[in-house]
Amino acid sequence: MSKLAKRMEHISESITLATSAKSKKLIAQGIDIIGLGVGEPDFQTADTIKVAAIEAIQNGRASYYTPTAGLPTLRDAVRERTLLDTGLVYSDAEVIVTDGAKNALYNLFQAILNPKDEVLVLAPFWVSYTEQVKLAEGTPVLVNGRPEKDYKITVSELEEKRTNQTKALILNSPSNPTGMIYTREELLEIGNWAVKHKILIISDEIYGKLIYNGHEFISIATLSDEIKRQTILINGVSKTYAMTGWRIGYALGDRDIIKGMIDVASHSTSNPTAASQYAAIEALNGNQEIVETMRLAFEERLNIAYPLLAAIPGFEVIKPQGAFYLFPNVKKAATACGFDSVDAFVDGILEEAHVAVVQGSGFGAKDNFRISYAADLETLKTGIARIHQYVLKKMNN
Ligand SMILES: *Cc1c(COP(=O)(O)O)cnc(C)c1O
Repeated sequence: MSKLAKRMEHISESITLATSAKSKKLIAQGIDIIGLGVGEPDFQTADTIKVAAIEAIQNGRASYYTPTAGLPTLRDAVRERTLLDTGLVYSDAEVIVTDGAKNALYNLFQAILNPKDEVLVLAPFWVSYTEQVKLAEGTPVLVNGRPEKDYKITVSELEEKRTNQTKALILNSPSNPTGMIYTREELLEIGNWAVKHKILIISDEIYGKLIYNGHEFISIATLSDEIKRQTILINGVSKTYAMTGWRIGYALGDRDIIKGMIDVASHSTSNPTAASQYAAIEALNGNQEIVETMRLAFEERLNIAYPLLAAIPGFEVIKPQGAFYLFPNVKKAATACGFDSVDAFVDGILEEAHVAVVQGSGFGAKDNFRISYAADLETLKTGIARIHQYVLKKMNN
């Protein structure tokens, strides 16, 4: 008998976490690596938030299991924040707090998918969507976005992939990795299409607060009551409040689905870490100026990094509107530098130019790589300059 379950044959390690492990190894060897691979803010969690957790630990409140769906005060804070940000009203039975947004998605797929159920995944996509669907024995069906359309998908492209088995669709606007945002009109079309065909919309809005240069973020659930009923919102504190390490996410939507997610969580994680939940209450209820301060820093970096990256020969870059990644198509540069794939080019950039970025192949876009601007300006500029010099050197060889 094989040691591992059959389902593991088709599961790959998270490429973003693998890249970060690879660069840490080179750093441990004393090599000066510039890490632009990771998908987390470089800022520290605000002191006010840290203090809330420290107090909960010291006075003993964090010593115990909490309700599986999260502390009632935190669930209230989630609903209140959602109301303030989007105008959407959810009842207490329509919210679950999870061990990060990643865990919310995991519980959701476990709760809704039967074997062979299909989930439409808009590509380029966040690396865990496909693997989580497969872990729940569902089938991810890719719908490929094209650069000339800002990597966004239209209803006719969705319709081409729809079958009787289509259960859900994952929307991630602003997108990791492309940074693109769907407009109100685009979302309305997708929402109405999903309602018509009874397809569940899973809207991952984790970057909803990181919007730049006057662009607008719309939550699809705000567009009509029918669409809201058909949508599960996924969000969390990781990206908005620089709290990736705390592991707090949440989901809002249909109470039966939320109940299913709670039941899954009750047998796996029991509850998100109590101290982290107290921190998250402070994050969501506290002064939101910290969010704007970080947003402004990301915006400045984007506006500086984008032209630098676009100036590298063979790089085709669309200027992102949100999140904190740039996603250049570097196929031409890779070929001109003598590589037969962008994956190999990315390895060369790490090993010879000493800059860590992530291959696009894990995101369903093999001609691209993802570079994060969640790094201070000097690091970012030096990293891009290294890549630029590396490309020039390789092209002239
Ligand atoms: C970071 C990220 C998540 C997961 O966030 P956690 O709350 O840290 O688990 C989910 N979706 C996307 C698109 C992300 O980039």
